[in-house]
Amino acid sequence: MVRSPVLKVTGIGDLINALRYASAVRRVRELMQLDAADLERFQQGRLREIVRYAYENVEVYNRKWRQAGIRPDDIETLASLKKLPLTTKEDLRRASRDEILSKEFKPEDCHVLTSSGSTGTPIRVYVDEDKALIDMALSLPKYMAGLPPVTASTVIRDFLLRRHIRYMSIVVKKEYLYHEVFWTMKHTVVDSLETPDVHIRAINTKKPAYLYSYPSVIRNICIRAREKRIAVHQPQLLMVCGEVVDAPLRDLARRTFGTDLVNVYGSTELGHIASECPSHEGLHVFSCKVIMELLDEAGRDVPVGQTGRVVVTDLFSRATPIIRYSGLGDYAVRGQAQCSCERPLPLLTRVEGRVVDTVVLPDGQMVHPYNLTLALEDVPYLSKFQIRQERPDYLRVLLVKDNVPEAQAVSFAPDGDIGRMILGRFNRILRGQATVDLAPTDDIPVPPGSRKYPTVVSLVNTG
Ligand SMILES: [Zn+2]
Repeated sequence: MVRSPVLKVTGIGDLINALRYASAVRRVRELMQLDAADLERFQQGRLREIVRYAYENVEVYNRKWRQAGIRPDDIETLASLKKLPLTTKEDLRRASRDEILSKEFKPEDCHVLTSSGSTGTPIRVYVDEDKALIDMALSLPKYMAGLPPVTASTVIRDFLLRRHIRYMSIVVKKEYLYHEVFWTMKHTVVDSLETPDVHIRAINTKKPAYLYSYPSVIRNICIRAREKRIAVHQPQLLMVCGEVVDAPLRDLARRTFGTDLVNVYGSTELGHIASECPSHEGLHVFSCKVIMELLDEAGRDVPVGQTGRVVVTDLFSRATPIIRYSGLGDYAVRGQAQCSCERPLPLLTRVEGRVVDTVVLPDGQMVHPYNLTLALEDVPYLSKFQIRQERPDYLRVLLVKDNVPEAQAVSFAPDGDIGRMILGRFNRILRGQATVDLAPTDDIPVPPGSRKYPTVVSLVNTG
């Protein structure tokens, strides 16, 4: 099985993989140089191809589109994309493995990614190697900040020059899966569950050129470093994803790390979707990889300045195609046509809906919300969940079961097999510092004035 292309770049047997990666880098470089008109032509051609592919090879799309009376020939232009029905998270989640996996791929040849992220509904998708390579090749330091990319040759050069690490991610452990390629490329992953002290030590020891994490982790590091008056290594680029970034955090990060925060938008299902450039006028959508629609309640494109539901089509995913997918559960504001940096990539001025709180334990340590949601990702027949910290030492986990006949016999009771497994995981993550109750329920209400319910709520940590 061919996996992790650049992982074993030093072995002769993996030369082919290194070459495939180099070819993906060349491809992305060409695509990132296209002007707006060529980019649109590329998207259109690619869309036709991927729609036909999904229709012919992937059951979940074939069935859905046939039911809607749509054939691949109906999708000729970008505008005709709107003829396709939306693909919901439920569509992918309820489908069996064989229904979401292309006939052309064996599961063992794909990366299997699971996600619950911000929507509180677990999902699994298959990612083929070519798509993974395109994601890896889309180097944020290079394209969005004009800094040297992390490539096989920089890795070798860094190794020979005994340079420090180039790229450090402080993220939930699971993300190792998909980032294994970066690993050997002098990419270090530090568990976001560790304390800010551990994070600061890692940053100061490894001295990464690029640092990638969540806003809450960066905030904790900044606060800790200032409290203890520790000087923190100054990376050239500081990237954050997964939560809302506010002005106080940008200011705090600049004062602590001596560099601006670059906000990145991505998801497990799609990889990187959009990123700020150094002008900070919004997030540029990576149009060579995704078609992003921002839709109102009636399914029409929202005008500039208005908030719309994010619907994405991935132009490269084949193992599990992602077409007109509304399952990210995010809302974003359509930005002006052009950023002052003159990149032809469309702008989002804001991404909303990543509503998660950080849980602070009685001893003052922080638990990043994704560590908690991860504990529920593979629970069978779990339709929705919400993790609520109601007191410093007490969490209640609301669990909603699938409303299907097969789920009848499944129990989320605390003394059942599944309940015990869930409680065991939470105890480990919370280091036994909080009691956890499981609360099976019929539904999770959306708070007034909001479009979605948060997956992790802390009623304690309001700061
Ligand atoms: Zn820009």
